[in-house]
This record gives sequence, structure tokens and C-alpha cells, in this order.
Amino acid sequence: MSYRSNISILNTTWRGAFLLAMVLACGWLLPGGAWALGKEIPLHSLAYLNDPGSDFKPETLLNTRQDWVAAGGDNLNLGFTSDVVWVRFFVDPRSAEGETLLEIANHKITHLQLYVARKGDAAHWQVRQSFVASDSLPLSERVYPHRHFIFPLALSPDRESQVLLRIENDYPVRLPLNLMQEAAFHQRDVDRTLFHGFYFGTVLIMAFYNLFIYFYVKDKSYATYVIFIVLFSAIVAVDKGLASQYLWPGHMEHDFRIYVVLVALGAASSVWFTVNFLSLREHAPRMLKGFYGLMTFWLVLAAVAIALPSKWVLMVEMIVLLPGGAALLWAGIYSWQKGVAAAPYYCISWCVVIFGVFIYACYLLGLLPVSLVTEYSLQVGNIIEATLLSLGLAHRIKELDREKQLADAKSEAKSEFLATMSHEIRTPMNGILGMAQLLRDTRLTQQQVSYLNTILGSGQTLLTVLNDILDYSKIEAGKLDMEHIHFNVRRLVDETAGVFAVKATEKGIYYNTYVAPRVPIKIKGDPTRVRQILTNFLSNAFKFTNTGRVTIYVKRGLEMNQLRFEVHDSGIGIPQDKLASVFEEFSQADSSTSRQYGGTGLGLPISRRLVEMMGGSIGVDSVMGRGSVFWFSLPIEGEIPFDRMPDRKDVPSMEKFRFLQLSPDEEFLSQTRAYSEFWKFGLVTKHSIHGAVSEIDPSEPPFDYLIVDQYCEDFSYEAVSRELMQQPWAKGAQPILTMKPGSDRLAFEQLKPAPWIEEYPVSITRIQFRFLGKQGVKLKQPTSADLSQSFANMRVLLVEDNPVNARVAVAFLKKLGIKPKAVDSGEEALELVCHEKRDFDLILMDCEMPGIDGYTTSRHIRDWELLHHQEPVRICALSAHAMDAHRTKCLDSGMNDFLTKPLVFEELRQKVAQAFAETRIEQSAD
Ligand code: ADP
Repeated sequence: MSYRSNISILNTTWRGAFLLAMVLACGWLLPGGAWALGKEIPLHSLAYLNDPGSDFKPETLLNTRQDWVAAGGDNLNLGFTSDVVWVRFFVDPRSAEGETLLEIANHKITHLQLYVARKGDAAHWQVRQSFVASDSLPLSERVYPHRHFIFPLALSPDRESQVLLRIENDYPVRLPLNLMQEAAFHQRDVDRTLFHGFYFGTVLIMAFYNLFIYFYVKDKSYATYVIFIVLFSAIVAVDKGLASQYLWPGHMEHDFRIYVVLVALGAASSVWFTVNFLSLREHAPRMLKGFYGLMTFWLVLAAVAIALPSKWVLMVEMIVLLPGGAALLWAGIYSWQKGVAAAPYYCISWCVVIFGVFIYACYLLGLLPVSLVTEYSLQVGNIIEATLLSLGLAHRIKELDREKQLADAKSEAKSEFLATMSHEIRTPMNGILGMAQLLRDTRLTQQQVSYLNTILGSGQTLLTVLNDILDYSKIEAGKLDMEHIHFNVRRLVDETAGVFAVKATEKGIYYNTYVAPRVPIKIKGDPTRVRQILTNFLSNAFKFTNTGRVTIYVKRGLEMNQLRFEVHDSGIGIPQDKLASVFEEFSQADSSTSRQYGGTGLGLPISRRLVEMMGGSIGVDSVMGRGSVFWFSLPIEGEIPFDRMPDRKDVPSMEKFRFLQLSPDEEFLSQTRAYSEFWKFGLVTKHSIHGAVSEIDPSEPPFDYLIVDQYCEDFSYEAVSRELMQQPWAKGAQPILTMKPGSDRLAFEQLKPAPWIEEYPVSITRIQFRFLGKQGVKLKQPTSADLSQSFANMRVLLVEDNPVNARVAVAFLKKLGIKPKAVDSGEEALELVCHEKRDFDLILMDCEMPGIDGYTTSRHIRDWELLHHQEPVRICALSAHAMDAHRTKCLDSGMNDFLTKPLVFEELRQKVAQAFAETRIEQSAD
């Protein structure tokens, strides 16, 4: 079970129980909060009076008859009004014992005057006490340091008191009035704080819990949910005056600005949350654009709200909140219809919030009276919503997990199917290609050779297609692992380029590599994959080019920590409008190319994916009919620079050497020039032999090396031997001839001194090695098995159940002079090795066999060797499975090496030579 499903179980059970407990607690606590609004000391005849012209004085109102409007209950809610509002009520003398407090449970009143009056002698009301207050007054300067307006009233126990309030307010005139003894007030305040503590505590726990899940599952909807509920609760904190009381008690005047900024941010976060929660990116990409627009609007508004008058900003917010909220709800309903698992939770919770906000808005506008429901509608709505969304998140992640498992299972089945198909195709291919390779060694007519080459070529193409499909399915399933090892870039380029040398000659195409001096010797990466990409580029270049040139450039990119590989060709080119799509799956620039040139359209997409996985980039430039440049660049990591000649005493300084290079190819000449600057040797370049002879002064000091290109128009044995080598400056110089593979070199070998023949594509590294060798420098040559010797005495056991494949392998081994012992089952192999104790130098082991398979057989052999203190025999797997997993499986079962079918003679020869070298080493050690 994946971590996601673990977490989703954790979500549904624990979170459900946890949230239910909280909702129940909420239900229990709310009645507790209810009496926070109730009254201890009753107010009599609560009434109000509008004073639009601000004409009244307290004395006038106290002692003349006015048209007071009686309040229906104990509280007043008059909504927005620009008039001055007077409020009055009476207090029974019997209630007035000790210190009595009047609380106006609202913190937003712009200007407030309070008068306490009692009747004097002539039954005339006289003001005995007065207060002035404002919401911008810092807490420390208030009569009573509290976010609400609280006044200690000096009431008389003998006579009735009248309390008069004069209110000017920019905000809704909302007056929950509470009159009580000080002790009772404190108790009530504690209860109220408890309720707020419960609310904010719940939000905080949910926020932390979901933040934790976010870090665990990395699903953005959790993070956006956290931001959303935290901002929502921050809005509540400011709205209830809690923020100003606890966070900025000295700066109450900033309240409003902070409030409008928070509302804009909260709205933006609700849009962001919706986008993620409903997975709109996948389900409704067009709607997504609109929501990004809405989110940007809210963010911009939040930014400008810092400077603009807060009243305006609030107005804009009120106007946009309604359609904005409706759009979000609509997105929820749309997603519900589309079957998005979490959408029902979203819609219901969104309805709850909208309902809560609606009630609260009506309350603020004075349309609903002060009550428990109206006062706490925002918070209750928020808690219910947060609970539902939290459950929705759990459901969502569970659903995503289920979808992912389903997709994984599908892709697993697909990969399995492809692997099996590949195995099944490779097995008969081994017969076809193996026999064809053997047939080539028999006496054939010219026509038969050409037919046979077609069979071999088609077989190879089929294998490439098979490998591409396998690679592609591995990439799709995320199963392609990259190596990260040091490898020799220069050697890799030379070797890969070398593979196409014969093809170039066959097609009559000029083919060369240009590796810049600053290209490192080694970098870190996956050599197999770099080779694969380069091979793909080259194979396309040769496929689509019939005349002209194919050239490889390797250099540092414009950013010096990038290595750039380019393959240029002068082929058919690609139309501009198709350039971008050649890297897309199964796309061919021109569908007729697939008919004319073959191909699956998978090579470049695979290359693109590989390059991306290595952190590089890939691209193409092309002109129709003129050719194309395919390139990729890789980040240079773990560089071992190609600085200079080996830094050793026996390596001479290059400055004393003089080279003459003759070639019509400017690119080739400029490459040598770059190296001459790098290594600081002397260099003269000319375009032809004749040019050199006629232009170089006979008194010129002698050259040490003459690099002569076969592509010079006057290149011939005569020209080189009679004209060039006879020049006074050429006497004794070492000729280096750069020639096309397969050219007749016999005549040139008679030159004195004997020439070095460097075949196209020319490798600077190879020339460097020969140069150092001539200077007597002993260098460690790359170790390679000696392929030229006779293996006649090698004892090889072949374990293969398929008779055709066995015939191919036996014939290949015989071609190497080996007479193998062939058996067709694991049981027989064990009989020979473990019972008859026959010694072998090499066992070639098929993997899939009826009875005991190759893996088990190898494991048994290793166990037996251990038990009997025998030297382990070299076992090489023969497998039609090409996946890395099978290679690992072979090595795990004790085999030493791996050969994939169809068998290629050269590869088998390499493996035999390796085993041969090892036996020799062992023998000499003995
Ligand atoms: P394939 O060669 O197997 O069709 P690729 O993914 O390697 O698949 O190439 C996709 C297509 O890109 C080719 O079919 C061809 O249309 C175009 N293309 C690739 N390389 C070249 C090139 N060097 N010159 C012209 N067209 C090319």
C-alpha cells in the first residue's frame, strides 16, 4: 500500500472522529456562549432617535418629549446610517448595587458619548456622569481596557437612572448592550474568550494537521486549504476586534485597513484553493484561466488596498465577492457533474459559508437582530465548512490514490506485455540474424550477398524499433534509471561516430567530427544514454541525407558549464512548421517519410526525454532542402578537463613541433588551428598539395608532421610521394593521411617514413596517442580484450534449449575455433559441472528454459563451487530479455556477464576473449 493510501486511511478514520468530536464540542459550547449575549441587569424602555442635523443636546433630550422609537427587544441593530443616533434606556434602582458595567459588545464605533442622568429635586433629569469614546482610541487610554466599549456606571440605589448614548458611526450601528456587575462581566468575558479560543484552536489544529499532511503527500490542495482557513480566521479575528485587542492595542486605527487587505487575500486564497481542490487544471482548463484572472484581481486589490481609502476598497470587495463566490460555487457544481470525487464536499461547504456570510452581512446591514446566530454565524459557518472540506480532502486524496494505482497497474501490465512481446520476437530474430551472419561467411554470388545484406539490415532495423518501443514504455512507466558515472566523452564520440563511417563511404557523404579543445576528457553522466541520443541523431542524418556532408560538433555551450553536441547534415531538411513537432511521440515531419525512409517517430521523443532526464536541452534548426542541425546540451558535472598533453617529464614540449596540414575543408583546418593554439605547436595550412608546393618557401624550416587529406583535389600517391615529400621542408616529416574507410591504402604504405592512416571521421585523440607513442611516451592504452588470438583450446559449455538458437551459438563458437559442449537443459548442465566435475572456461547460459531455468542453474553451480572450494567458472547469460531488470536478475543469480539475443558475432567474440584473458591470468598466477 502506498504512503498516500496510508495517509488517506489516517484521514478518513481519525480525522472524521476528531472533527466530529469538535463539532459536538462546538454544539455544547455554543449554549455556553449564548448567555454571553444575555443580560444580568434588565434595561427598561430601550429606544432610539435619529438626529440627522445633530441638533440635540443631552439636556434637551432628557427633559423634553421626543419621538423615541422603541426597540423591539434588548438590543439594537440599525445598520448603516450617516445620522447621529441617540439611544436611551432606564435602569431600575433596585438593580444598582456596587460597581455596574455597561458593555457595548461591538468594537467598531467611530464616535460615542455616554451620559448617565438622574432626576434632581425638581423632577428634572440631570447628567451626573459622562464619557467620550472612539474606536481609534488606544486601549491604554480607555476607561476600561477592552476591545468593546465598557463603562463603569455610577447608578443610584435610591433613584431610577437614565442612560443616554450619542453615536456617530461609519460602520453599521450594532449595539448589543449588556449591563452587569463587574464580577459577572469578568466571568462572561472568560466564557467568551473560551469560545474564541475554541474556534481559533480548532482552526490552528486543522491548519497544522493539514500542513503536516501537505509535507507528507506534497499535494498542493492541502497547502492552499491551510492558507485559506488561516486567512479566514484572521478576518474573523480582526472583525471581532480580537486582533486589535491582543496584537496591536496601541494602533486601533489600522484595523480597517488590515481588514480590507485580509478580505482580498482571503478571497484570492479561496480561488487558489478551489483550483487545486477541484483539480481544475485537469478537468476544466478553460475555466482555470478565468480563475487565475480572478485571483490576480484579488491580489492586486490587496496590494492597492494598502494605499487606497479602505471604505472604497470595502465597497469594491462587497461588489465582487458576490459574483466571485457564485463563480466558485458554479465551478464546484460543474466539477460535481463531471464526477470529481471531492466536488460534493466542496459545494456543500461552500453553500454553508455563503449562508454564514449572508446571515452575517444581513446582520451588519441591520436587517437581522443581534442574536447568538447572527453574532457567531461566520465562525460556525467556517468551522462546519472547514470540517467538510477536510473530509473532502481526505476523500480526494483517496480517490487520487485509487486512480494512481489503477494507472500504475495499467502501465505495469503494458510494460509486462511489451517485455514479453520483445522476448518472443527476439528469440526467432536470433535465428534469422544469426543464420544470416553465418551465411555471409559461405561462398555467395554478388546477388546473394546483396540479398543477405538486406536481410541483415532489415533485421537490425526491426531490433532498433523494438528497443525504441521498450525504452519508450520504460520512460512512460517511470522505470528508466539513469547512471551517473564518469565517462570519457571524447572516446564515446569517436566510437559512436565510427559506427557510421562505412555508411558514409557507401553513400559518398563527407563525414567528420570536430571536437573543440575545451571539451573535457571526462564528465559525469550516463554514457549509454548519451551514445543512444548521438546514435539516433546520426542515424537520422544518414537516413535523410543522400549527398553532401554529415558532421558532428562537440563544444562547450554559450554557458560554459554546458556541453553541446551537434549533428549537421545537408539532407532533405524539415519544414519550419513541423520543427517543434518532431520531438513529439509518433510524429514524423512528413508522413510520406515513413513510407520512403521507414521509422517509428519514436527516436527523437525518446532522445528528448533522455536529455530532459539528464537536465539538458535539445533542439533542431533546419532549412527545407538544405539540411538540418540537431543538437543537445548537457550540464557538465565532475569535469576532468582536457588541458594539455599529459603532464609528465617524458612528454616533450609541443612548441618545437611544426605541422603542415593540407585539406580543402575549412572546418577541418580551423579545428587543427584551434588545437595548435591550445597546445602551442606550429601550424601551416593549405588547401591542396599543389598549393603547398607552390606557396611554401623552400627555405622554410622543416615540418615534423604532414597531415594530408584525401579530399585534396590533387591527392594521389604520386603527388604525395614525388611532389610533396620531396620538398626540402618535408624531408623526414611523418605523413599522416586522413582517408575514407575502405580506400585503397596499399600504395601509400610504401611511403617513407610509413604514413599513419587516420580514417574518417578523424579523431584528434587517436592522432594525439600516436604522436605521443612516436615521442616514446608510454601511455596506458584503453584495455581491450585481444580479439586476434586463437581460442581453440577454450572449453565452453553452451546451455540452450531452443535448437535454432543453439545452432547459431555453436556455429559462432566454431567460427572462433571453439568446439563447445552443448546441452539443452539446466539439469544436464548441473550433471556435467557438479557431478561429472567437468572444467569449463566459460558457460553460456540461456535464461528461460523448461525445467530448471538459467538463473536457478547458475545459483546451484555457485553453491556447489562454494561447498567444494572450486574456482568460480565464468557464466555469461544469453537472454532475449533486453530490460535492465533482467540483467540485474542474472547478476544476482551469480552470473558474471550478459549477452542479449539476437546474438551478434562481434559481441560474442568480445565476451569469449574476456573469458580467455581471465583464464590466462589465472594460469599465469598459478
Ligand atoms: P524516425 O526517424 O524513426 O521516424 P525520429 O523520432 O527519429 O523517428 O524522427 C522523427 C521525424 O523527424 C522523422 O520521421 C523525420 O521526418 C524527421 N527527421 C528527423 N531527423 C531528421 C533529419 N536529420 N533530416 C530531416 N528530417 C528529420
